[in-house]
Amino acid sequence: MSDSTADHSTHLRTHMCGELRSANVGERVSVCGWVAARREHSQHLSFVDLRDHTGRVQCVVDGSVDVRSEYVLRVTGEVRAREDATINPNLATGEIELKHCSVEVLSVAEPPPFPLDDRTETDETIRLRHRYLDLRRDAMQRNLRTRATVNHAVRTAMTGQGFVEIETPMLIASTPEGARDFVVPSRLKPGSFYALPQSPQLFKQLCMVGGIDRYYQIARCLRDEDLRADRQFEFMQLDAEMSFASQDDVLSVITTTIRAVVAAVTGEQIGEIPTMTWLEAAERFGSDKPDVRFGLELVELTEVFSSTEFNAFKAPCVKGIRVPGGAEFTRSRLDDLTDRAKRWGAKGLVWMRVRGEAGAVELESPVAKFLSAEELASLASTLEAESGDLLLIVADERPRVRHVLGLLRLEIGRPPVNEGGLQFLWVVDFPLFEAIDEATGKPVSAHHPFTMPHADDLELLDGVVAGGDPTALLSVRSQAYDLVLNGWELGSGSVRIHRGDIQSKIFGLLGIGAAEAQSKFGFLLDAFRFGAPPHAGFAFGIDRLVALLVGEENIREVIAFPKTQSGSDPLTQAPTDIDPAQLAELGLRLLPRSAD
Ligand code: ASP
Repeated sequence: MSDSTADHSTHLRTHMCGELRSANVGERVSVCGWVAARREHSQHLSFVDLRDHTGRVQCVVDGSVDVRSEYVLRVTGEVRAREDATINPNLATGEIELKHCSVEVLSVAEPPPFPLDDRTETDETIRLRHRYLDLRRDAMQRNLRTRATVNHAVRTAMTGQGFVEIETPMLIASTPEGARDFVVPSRLKPGSFYALPQSPQLFKQLCMVGGIDRYYQIARCLRDEDLRADRQFEFMQLDAEMSFASQDDVLSVITTTIRAVVAAVTGEQIGEIPTMTWLEAAERFGSDKPDVRFGLELVELTEVFSSTEFNAFKAPCVKGIRVPGGAEFTRSRLDDLTDRAKRWGAKGLVWMRVRGEAGAVELESPVAKFLSAEELASLASTLEAESGDLLLIVADERPRVRHVLGLLRLEIGRPPVNEGGLQFLWVVDFPLFEAIDEATGKPVSAHHPFTMPHADDLELLDGVVAGGDPTALLSVRSQAYDLVLNGWELGSGSVRIHRGDIQSKIFGLLGIGAAEAQSKFGFLLDAFRFGAPPHAGFAFGIDRLVALLVGEENIREVIAFPKTQSGSDPLTQAPTDIDPAQLAELGLRLLPRSAD
């Protein structure tokens, strides 16, 4: 955490409030900070608890003292041991206090609009409106200081592995991450716009052509997407790229960095990070970012119902999950789960309560009568059903079955963010394309269009280029990989295409013509004509990593000045109108607002 051994003394203070201990007894000290509490014991005796980011200390004043909560003070006094009866074991400085204090008021303060302790829940908009006060709270102090520790550990680990920190520009042409750009109008070229970077992707690849060999940056990225608990318009990521490197090289570098970060924050050494293929993650967890802190895995049942008479199970894929103890779920809970499954795209959800004895379980369900005795027996044994369990079954197209059961699994079993430890996981062998766009008939990149296909699947690509069935594209794997932590996607990366012929092929399949490719990424393609080393890279989100390390569900809790869910900043009021003169200078005129 923050370096407690650092000397924080200044011309106003000798010590920090929270660092005074019995060893300081007898010393005359000065501390500065905010009034956390004040008690007038009598006309002759008052107590002031003074707080700075290291903690608080009790100051005893002989007489009354005219201060209020959050006044900023400099207090000078002598450290003395408290009498046994007044020792406060809940306070790090609880064995001492400052006596005969002189108090200098450095700033007066209005009463804060909300209590600055961690026990009170305050509306988030009010907290953000007065973020400077909210930051004084212990939790925010801890979160931001942990964040600084993470950044520091990242820099040390990356530098230690030969990476060079390079800053890439903020005013750029668009990047191909697939989100909406934030744009900035150009004054010198009215009618033209810069984009703010969705990531430094193209620049880091140019760095490789430029012989930098190993690049990194803690980069600010901006994406105009709807905000959620784990998403802000702007976020920070460790962004890295390395030359003459394979997927394994990248995984090893990033693993080393993640381990250094975890050790710096928690003191713990985590082991190797396990690897799982995308297909396995989809089949077992119904997700490309599986939360492996708990079971409830998806079990294949297609074979069990291969010749069923039950119409609802006549589908290309049937899967189920077993919920231990779930037989106790109430009917309304089951109805709620069914509604959710339908909202997520399922035609329905079959549930069965498991009753009876070990070895002779019975399945209780409104649909049991439609299934044969063999099917019921085989279902129970495949799911290893035990009395007291609940079985949940979905039948449909395979991707939809995975999706719905994956979400149900989370709904039923996901532990709070701060439970179950830190379960990192590499997910590898992502598909190259995530879907075929119905309108255009073209595939959509799962990562970005510079991702190298899996060497073993290049033939599949060639088959489609030669006029074969385009749906074959959906089984082409890529050399792309994600890092997952407790079910959150922390980051992603890939081996890049450095060969012009493969890149043109991919652009062709994506429907990006030569002219469009040249106008959008011409500078990158040009650069590649001058000797591009094979290269690969990765980026992980600092905000998400810090949030999980400190056990916060919402990344706003680890960002000093975040935006609300609706994208505004209650503190500065951004986004705001701008002056007509400023608009004119930029060559812009506003359309009437539709709501006006
Ligand atoms: N540019 C990618 C992203 O920001 C990461 C990478 O491929 O290196 O998600």
